[in-house]
Amino acid sequence: MPGASIHLNEPPMFELAFVPRLHASHKGSFGDVAVVGGAHGMAGAPILAARAALFSGAGRVYVASVDHGPAYDNVQPELMFRDAATHNFAGSTVVAGPGMGDSATAIRILAKLLDGESPLVLDADAINLVAASPDLQSRLSARHAPSILTPHPLEAARLLGVTAGVVQGDRLEAAREIAARFDAFVVLKGSGTVIAMPDGEAAINPTGNPGLASAGTGDVLAGLCGSLLAQGWPARDAALAAVWMHGQAADRLVAQGVGPIGLTAGELPAAIRTVLNRM
Ligand code: AMP
Ligand code: MG
Repeated sequence: MPGASIHLNEPPMFELAFVPRLHASHKGSFGDVAVVGGAHGMAGAPILAARAALFSGAGRVYVASVDHGPAYDNVQPELMFRDAATHNFAGSTVVAGPGMGDSATAIRILAKLLDGESPLVLDADAINLVAASPDLQSRLSARHAPSILTPHPLEAARLLGVTAGVVQGDRLEAAREIAARFDAFVVLKGSGTVIAMPDGEAAINPTGNPGLASAGTGDVLAGLCGSLLAQGWPARDAALAAVWMHGQAADRLVAQGVGPIGLTAGELPAAIRTVLNRM
């Protein structure tokens, strides 16, 4: 379906590329995810992304902190914590940005990741850093491995050098413009999330609700995108499916009375797991 057409993002539109869970499977069969972020005061953001990766089936999940991060997560002891400045990211899918900040260390690590061969999800501060740096922009455009960008409207506006009002005035065009400019898969978030591919294909997502309008839900989406990429999904299907499932999980929680008021990002990963296992 490539080309300039626009679709409603529903399951027949994307391929479910789950790796069969064979009896002889082991954790190495389901990919490694490394979430890079967690500047001082923002340690929770990469943990939310990492939990989403774990609950959506990634084999091993690391949190690589740009600052002196926590040693472990009491709630999710399965997660492994590393120092982003020294971690070897080879073989991992990387989710960069949640709570990453704008330190010199963060910029240096992001430049290295952009030059590397790991599939990348860029969210939040990673997008802000790219928006602020022509050097990082050319590194992003030059990548061979897939990149998924997950901006909210203000982050998209920074990338395009316009106001958030301009982005919101034509969300479809804004997402397509970013995808074309950086040769990347773009998820422009918010009510009616737009997913745009580098070849011009685009979709609008029908799932999700205002219960998602709270801190950390975007981190969960980024972790889910990275997890599907790590499990070998093509970037197009990973982006479409992640957005659909993330919204569907929120809709299920609201149907159960868990929101829209007071729905927290931390409640999403388990709901995403249920959505995913029933697909
Ligand atoms: P962020 O802005 O990075 O925290 O991400 C917020 C997440 O919640 C994104 O996945 C948005 O698409 C989603 N979201 C926020 N508000 C709504 C809404 N009113 N309807 C559907 N999804 C929403
Ligand atoms: Mg965000």
